[in-house]
Amino acid sequence: MTQPSTDLAIVGAGPVGATLALSLADSDASIVVLDARAKGEALRGERTLALSHGARLIFERLGVWHELAATDGAVTPISDIDISQAGGFGMTRLSAAEQDLPALGYVVSYRALQAALDTGVARAGISVRHGVSATSVGGTATYAAVTCDAGADLVTARLAAVADGSGAAVGNVDRKRHAYGQVALVAKVWRAEPHGGLAYERFTPEGPVALLPEGDHYGLVWTAAPDRAEALLALDEVAFLAELERHFGTRTAGFTRVADRRRFPLALEFAPAAVGTRCVMLGNAAQALHPVAGQGFNLGLRDAAELAAIVQDTPREAIGEPPMLRRYERQRRGDRYAGIAFTHGLVAAFGNDVPLLRWPRGLALTLLDAFPPAKRAFTRAMLFGLR
Ligand SMILES: Cc1cc2nc3c(=O)[nH]c(=O)nc-3n(C[C@H](O)[C@H](O)[C@H](O)COP(=O)(O)OP(=O)(O)OC[C@H]3O[C@@H](n4cnc5c(N)ncnc54)[C@H](O)[C@@H]3O)c2cc1C
Repeated sequence: MTQPSTDLAIVGAGPVGATLALSLADSDASIVVLDARAKGEALRGERTLALSHGARLIFERLGVWHELAATDGAVTPISDIDISQAGGFGMTRLSAAEQDLPALGYVVSYRALQAALDTGVARAGISVRHGVSATSVGGTATYAAVTCDAGADLVTARLAAVADGSGAAVGNVDRKRHAYGQVALVAKVWRAEPHGGLAYERFTPEGPVALLPEGDHYGLVWTAAPDRAEALLALDEVAFLAELERHFGTRTAGFTRVADRRRFPLALEFAPAAVGTRCVMLGNAAQALHPVAGQGFNLGLRDAAELAAIVQDTPREAIGEPPMLRRYERQRRGDRYAGIAFTHGLVAAFGNDVPLLRWPRGLALTLLDAFPPAKRAFTRAMLFGLR
C-alpha cells in the first residue's frame, strides 16, 4: 500500500464525530465518515445533553444552532444554578444575568441535536456511510486502516479520528478506568411550579443529585449506591417523590410526578494520550466523565473543534504524521486533564460523607457566593472549559 484512499476517516458520526465532519466541510481534506447506526436514527434517543454557552457558540458557527433552537422542545435554557450541600451550611447561585449571558447553558435533546447535525452534514455535501461498523482501527506508520463489518471495504486514511463513544475499536491505545462504585438514577420529574430555567445541584452524603430544566419538567440525575438505587427504583410514585423531596431538604419541593426511571453505573474512563499511530480519539472515546458538572459533552465538542482547526492548518501530506499528532495531544492535554480532574475532584470533595469536610465545603460555597471574581472565574470555567 503506497497511498491511503482518503485524508481523514471519521469513525462514528454521533454528536462529536458529526461536529468534526461539519467543521471540515470547507477544508481541502478528503473525508470518509462511517457510522454504525442506520440513517435517520440516533444512537441514544432518550438522552439529553448538557451544553455550555461555549458549545452553543460552536454550533452557531456551524449553522446548526438556529435549526436546533427552532425544533419544538429541543432546547431548554438554564438561567440559574442553585448549588448547595446537604447537612452543612453554604450555598451559591450562579446566574446568567450576572455573567451578562443569555443563558448559563442548555439542556438539549440528543435526538434533535443528532438530526440537526445530520442535516447540516448532508447539506454540506458530506456523505456518511450508515450501517457500517468499524471492528478495528489500526495501521502502520504511513496510513490508518479501518476494518469494517458486514463485508464493507477496508478504509485507509492518513488519519483515523475515532468518535465511536467508547474507543472500543482502537486496540493499541492505553485506557484507564475508575469505577465510582455508584450508579446514576435518571428520571423525568414534574413540580407544581414551572422551573423558570433554574437548575439545582446538591451535594449529599450519598453523592451529588441534580435537577436540570427540560421542557415542562426536570431531568433528575440522582447518584447513589447500587442497592439504594435498586430500592428507589422499586418504590411507587408517591414514595419515590417523598424520598426525593427529603433528599432535596429545603432547597426545593412540590414534586408531583415521576416517569422513565432508569439507572447506569458511574465510571471515569479515559485515554491518557488521546492519540495512537495515525489515530486520534475524541469525545467519549477519549474521555467519559462522571456527569456531576455536565462537562463531558462540552469537552468532546472542543476536541472536535480543535482537531478540525489543526487539520485545516496542516499540509495534506502531513495529516496524521507524528508532529501533527503531538500538536493535537499537546493542545488538548490541558483542557482534557483539567476537565477530568475538576469533575473527579468535585466527586471526591463533595460526593462523600466525611463530616470533617462539611465545614470547608460550606466555606468554599459561601466564599464563592460572596466573592464575585471567584464566582465569575468558576462560572466561566464551567461555560468555556479550564485551561
Ligand atoms: C450512560 C451515560 C449517560 C449519559 N448521560 C448524559 C447526560 O444526562 N447528559 C449529558 O450531557 N451527557 C451524558 N452522557 C455523556 C454523553 O452521552 C456524551 O458526552 C456524548 O454522547 C458523546 O458524544 P460522542 O459523539 O462522543 O459519542 P456517542 O454519542 O456515543 O456517539 C457515538 C457514535 O458512534 C457510532 N458508533 C459507535 N460504535 C461505532 C463503530 N464501531 N463503528 C462506527 N460507528 C460507531 C454510534 O452509532 C454513534 O452515532 C452520558 C453518557 C453515558 C455513558
